Amino acid sequence: QLFPVITVDGPSGAGKGTISTLLANRLGWHFLDSGAIYRVLAIASIHHQIDASDESGLLPLASGLDVNFEPAEHGCKVILEGEDVSDDIRTEEVGAVASQVASLPSIREALLRRQRAFKEAPGLVADGRDMGTIVFPEAEVKIFLTASAQERANRRFKQLKEAGHDVSILRLLADIEARDERDSNRSVAPLVAAKDALIIDSTELGIEQVLEKITEFANLKI
Ligand code: C5P
Repeated sequence: QLFPVITVDGPSGAGKGTISTLLANRLGWHFLDSGAIYRVLAIASIHHQIDASDESGLLPLASGLDVNFEPAEHGCKVILEGEDVSDDIRTEEVGAVASQVASLPSIREALLRRQRAFKEAPGLVADGRDMGTIVFPEAEVKIFLTASAQERANRRFKQLKEAGHDVSILRLLADIEARDERDSNRSVAPLVAAKDALIIDSTELGIEQVLEKITEFANLKI
């Protein structure tokens, strides 16, 4: 398949979701939120009462995961076994379980084909941790988007505050650092920039500035 792929990898809270969604929308391309797949698996494991470290128990669940992404007004709806879990998958708790199940090699392997199926005409923007290194190593354009842990905690704090949640910024910072540590040090598909990736530090950049850097690098007009 000769469809172009842009991969956007990086730690949580660096703005990958916002940037990739905008990019996909403006290009009219497909969008893969690979983190949502791990989050859905996390919710499914909770529903089925399977421990997040039980690799052989989780494997059939991962292979047969009944998840669908339906286009909606803002981004897309995530449907698990017929149930809309779009909001449920976004909690910090589910993120933590997702990061645990994502550290299991056979689980990552079982989800590969499902992720690669998103590569369809006219093109794909793929958001995750290992999009440029493992899932789409052939991608023409690879971006590694990062920001300081403090800035990522600030952004998350603002988001949660606006949504009416009462959270501690110190707790958020600790959670972000713990997740970075787990995602970067796991033995399979650790969070690293692909050798041919453009590294963008968004700590002091706005959304449009990041988009500009990407489109310039990719030689794309949007
Ligand atoms: O990106 P998001 O925060 O939704 O991802 C949730 C978790 O899923 C991450 O902390 C990470 O452990 C895992 N993940 C992964 N590989 C990806 C996407 C997400 O391991 N490609």
